[in-house]
Amino acid sequence: MARWFKIGSITSVSPHSFKSNRLPDLNYCIYCGDTGGSLTEEHIVPLALGGDLTVGRASCQKCQTVINEEVETKALRQMFLPWRTIENYPTRNPKRRQKFFDVEIGHPDGARFETEKTVRVPAEDFPRAIALPSFWKPPGILTSRRYSSGWDGKMWWAIDGESLKAFEKKYGGWPTFMHSVTEVYFRQLAKIAHCFIFANPDCKDDYRPLLVDTIMGRDHSYDFWMGLDENPGAAQPEANLFRIRADIIEKYMVVSVSLFHGVGEPDIQIVVGERRDSDRAPRVDYDVLSVEVGYSSSAELWNLQRQDANSCRAS
Ligand SMILES: [Zn+2]
Repeated sequence: MARWFKIGSITSVSPHSFKSNRLPDLNYCIYCGDTGGSLTEEHIVPLALGGDLTVGRASCQKCQTVINEEVETKALRQMFLPWRTIENYPTRNPKRRQKFFDVEIGHPDGARFETEKTVRVPAEDFPRAIALPSFWKPPGILTSRRYSSGWDGKMWWAIDGESLKAFEKKYGGWPTFMHSVTEVYFRQLAKIAHCFIFANPDCKDDYRPLLVDTIMGRDHSYDFWMGLDENPGAAQPEANLFRIRADIIEKYMVVSVSLFHGVGEPDIQIVVGERRDSDRAPRVDYDVLSVEVGYSSSAELWNLQRQDANSCRAS
């Protein structure tokens, strides 16, 4: 019984006093299996995106470094810093909230100007907008699509049109880093989904992990392992940070994540594991693995406009 995940209820976190919820130590690295050296605590969802669940002694120095440098630092410092700041996301140091951003201004279609134009923008001028890479279809592995490298998907937006118009008028374009870093985001989602399941040591006995190469940047076949969740269930406005749910689909362990559920990001299905032995009863009651996290101060996020933008392809 996976008793340590919060089930069917909203965890409230406060931007000003943040306490983490620590799961028992694993004593091995959930990415490479290493048991030696110093193992560190892993946040399932980064604290800076509202995650309060951690698992003790779960990541080796080497894997931790790759994930920090190639994924989380980029996701949190580049992709989401303005959004975290203007939406008052949890932080360990509320007093050190960013007051301004040095922003490269580009054309609204995402293209760069011929000469780079960087300006210092006060946080309050930054448009309330978030752009995320997303998918058209469920994960390829669930629909018998062939394995292929890359991503055939779309960008998804939540925009406060007024604040974006005001920004464009004042600065002559859009901030370029609103245009998401696809690989970083998918690796971040893969890491969250993988941790969510394998933070439970019993899951390792039931399922063979499939995403370690994706997380570590060795496998780029994002739409093979990930895709649109076509049956996400009703939106939960009270989960105004994120929600995560585990499902079993045939022989696969699938995790649905809406990391920005508060602004209606579509749930993304992520295939994290393959059943090792389908004859044996699972050790964990997977039906109860779900977590929804929110806090009250950003309830109005729900009213932003949302749209699917242009098709995108990357490889
Ligand atoms: Zn490791």
